[in-house]
Amino acid sequence: MLLFEDIVRAEKIVSEHIVTTPLVHSQALSKAIGERVYLKLENQQVTGSFKIRGAINAISNLNPEQKKAGVVALSTGNHGRGLAFAANLMKIRCIICMSKLVPNNKIEGIKALGAEVRLVGKNQDEAQLEADRLSSEEGMTYVSPFDNIDVIAGQGTLGLEIHQKIPDLNFAFVPLSGGGLICGVAKALKSLNRKLKVIGVSMDRGAAMYESQKAGKPIFVKEEESLADALTGGIGLDNKYTFQLTKQLVDDIVLVSEKEIADGIHHAYWRESQIVEGAGAVAIASLLNKKFKPNGTSVALVCGRNINMEKHFSLISGKS
Ligand SMILES: *Cc1c(COP(=O)(O)O)cnc(C)c1O
Repeated sequence: MLLFEDIVRAEKIVSEHIVTTPLVHSQALSKAIGERVYLKLENQQVTGSFKIRGAINAISNLNPEQKKAGVVALSTGNHGRGLAFAANLMKIRCIICMSKLVPNNKIEGIKALGAEVRLVGKNQDEAQLEADRLSSEEGMTYVSPFDNIDVIAGQGTLGLEIHQKIPDLNFAFVPLSGGGLICGVAKALKSLNRKLKVIGVSMDRGAAMYESQKAGKPIFVKEEESLADALTGGIGLDNKYTFQLTKQLVDDIVLVSEKEIADGIHHAYWRESQIVEGAGAVAIASLLNKKFKPNGTSVALVCGRNINMEKHFSLISGKS
């Protein structure tokens, strides 16, 4: 069970180690939709995304024996970076398992953050087997990027920061993949303000949580490439927490196209002076394209900046 108190407790732990990211009024977006819009600039967080919040909280909640054995994860992306950084900070052993086909720059990136990298097999499933083995044979704790209560509570600290700045907020637009982020943020915001609505934003390619909610149970959705690469992947057929929490806490889910995500990255750069990755642009994109029309004050969560800079350059160079 996810309790508001878990999020309050997480904030005490997490806030020591992270940046309280800026929350700014967006003149451009407010003008475009005719209501007040703010941006929570979590792209400016340590390691370039919010994942460090959940990672720090998950590690802090391990018992001494678990701390001694360390943590293991699969992600080569933002979760891997966040967990590696958090483990290094807290002097905990961390192994990130990945397939031998992962590009060298990603491997080096994770190593530079202080984690061990274990290269196994030719795909994600074989890497998963090694992670499972490390957890069952060596007692290391597997940390899911989203389906873990301490991770969800850690991401929820973003909701507390938003509420502190805008107590009378009406709508929060939050990027959605596995749902750890939106469930934590929605729990925090709605516990403090019952009337607030939370809108999830996913890409229209392989939106696993959206399709699962429609089906009424976690389902397999084919993974597709997207500019919002941090949003790809499934929610797990054996999903423990985020499917149910999303059902309870999220008021609507809207989808954005690749073109709309590209325009969101363009907008973030030229109109908001922000470098954002694809997933970091989806909330902005949903507002610009009026996927859900808020009547009241909104915040768009800008959740990450880890994008290939050559790709970014070509996206912002194009006319929009
Ligand atoms: C992980 C991630 C998401 C999605 O978070 P979930 O908890 O899986 O919904 C969105 N944006 C960025 C930048 C991420 O790293």
